[in-house]
Amino acid sequence: KDLSQKFQQIKNMGGAKKKVAIFGGGLSGLSCAKYLSDAGHIPTLYEARSILGGKVSAWKDPTSDGDDYIETGLHIFFGAYPNIHNLFDELGIQDRLQWAPHRMTFAMQELPGQFTSFEFPDRVPAPFNIAAAILGNTEMLTLEEKIKMVPALLPMLLEGQPFIDAQDELSVLQFMRKYGMPDRINEEIFIAMGKALDFIDPDKLSMTVVLTAMNRFINEADGSQTAFLDGNPPARLCEPIKEWVEKKGGKVVCSSPVTEIQLNEDNTVKSLRLANGTEVEADYYVSAVPVDVFKRLIPVQWSTLPYFRQLDELEGIPVINIQLWFDRKLDSTDGLCFSRSPLLSVYADMSNCCAEYASDERSMLELVFAPCSPEAGSPINWIAKPDLEIIDATMKELERLFPLEIGPAAPDEKRANLVKSTVVRVPRSVYAAQPGRNKYRPSQESPIRNFVMAGDYATQKYLGSMEGAVLSGKLAAEVICDKTTGTSERKGVKAIHSSVDKVYSERQPT
Ligand code: FAD
Repeated sequence: KDLSQKFQQIKNMGGAKKKVAIFGGGLSGLSCAKYLSDAGHIPTLYEARSILGGKVSAWKDPTSDGDDYIETGLHIFFGAYPNIHNLFDELGIQDRLQWAPHRMTFAMQELPGQFTSFEFPDRVPAPFNIAAAILGNTEMLTLEEKIKMVPALLPMLLEGQPFIDAQDELSVLQFMRKYGMPDRINEEIFIAMGKALDFIDPDKLSMTVVLTAMNRFINEADGSQTAFLDGNPPARLCEPIKEWVEKKGGKVVCSSPVTEIQLNEDNTVKSLRLANGTEVEADYYVSAVPVDVFKRLIPVQWSTLPYFRQLDELEGIPVINIQLWFDRKLDSTDGLCFSRSPLLSVYADMSNCCAEYASDERSMLELVFAPCSPEAGSPINWIAKPDLEIIDATMKELERLFPLEIGPAAPDEKRANLVKSTVVRVPRSVYAAQPGRNKYRPSQESPIRNFVMAGDYATQKYLGSMEGAVLSGKLAAEVICDKTTGTSERKGVKAIHSSVDKVYSERQPT
């Protein structure tokens, strides 16, 4: 909120209006454009595809005569997303979030078709509500196992963020062993959390990711409560941001991929070249494309600078999003469910959770298939498999979750048949939060005077998430505002870790 007010104050000061060219129309680029326009600047955003949203994008199913949407990913909004909620408030669309009951539901591994929940009591402040939720559930962890979690979580409670950041060098498994946590906590909780938070297994996942989420849940009463958007994200979330930006004089242009960053002799950006040959000139330039795309756009002259070289250490992780339409309603839980099956991460019955997809007659399950490549922890490279094989494997896993409704064992009168399915592969999604990656995440401010970095992978405390993307875009807007007002309070370029080739760290920023 403070940052939002700062943009307003900058606008009221009536300083110079700067032209800013942003490339990448996901939540980060859109957030950057929104806050720059709030500060009185004139952003133009160039998105490669014909739809906005990037990893939250969705499009009408061309084979459907109804209104089915194909989504890039099942997206959950947490209570602990302050920048997202602030953005929704500012846009006047807070009522578009559909809150699910405050619980975390897990499928029981040994008991097909059965589920267990951590119930967060209403009107109980944090951390007592989470303590009540954990103590109240007796089906997943024993009291002894819960007590054995305490020594590991105590330093986080006492030391906060510095302790959390310092755990980035350890995988979840290494952290557990260090603090003597029983392996069953991994099997019962952390595998599910790792697959949900970063689509990878705990032996590959940085402990900072898990602690960051837990810290928010422990400190905010509604931090772990989940909400779904009430419809397809491009229309219900991206469009209001676009309208906001354009009402204030900015522009959002789709189907305009940036193909080249062109430089002046002093290495500052001269222009962006678009695929149609147009050259775009502005006072400032912001990248809001995924890290793997940006690496391909780095001009040769920048490629030796440590700030850009550190990006070699970041890489998107593959994930698959699946939607399954059934001919009848499944007896599914209301809200998000941790499937705790080898191939699936979380899923939700969107016919219950999302107004636009609501149906009393047919269920539509949206599922995240993860890990789905050897580098993420899967023995099979699912991302390269044909759709049919992926759907077959998913249906086999669903037989365990819905034994009375899915599969050959289900009685005829209750059996739900698959009517339609879609598979969306995201070969490079959020950056792989493997141990030791955090230190290579770039600051929004870069060593190039007129170039700023956004995107969920740039430094901010919310990891690769919608909240992280919105915050990163907002911080990128702040860098430009601070440069324009000439304040001495700029955060500056984050120090580059010494492991990034020392030869280049001597070079002076441009
Ligand atoms: P992106 O969304 O990747 O946007 C980048 C944009 O740049 C894209 O629109 C792309 O088309 C565009 N682009 C690429 N190349 C060019 C070019 N050359 N020129 C111009 N534009 C270009 N987060 C949560 O908080 N909760 C969840 O439940 C959740 N679930 C997820 C499930 C899945 C399956 C996936 C894949 C992600 C999930 N996430 C979730 C993460 C979240 O979606 C991302 O962290 C966030 O949306 C990233 O936003 P971004 O703007 O940084 O990047």
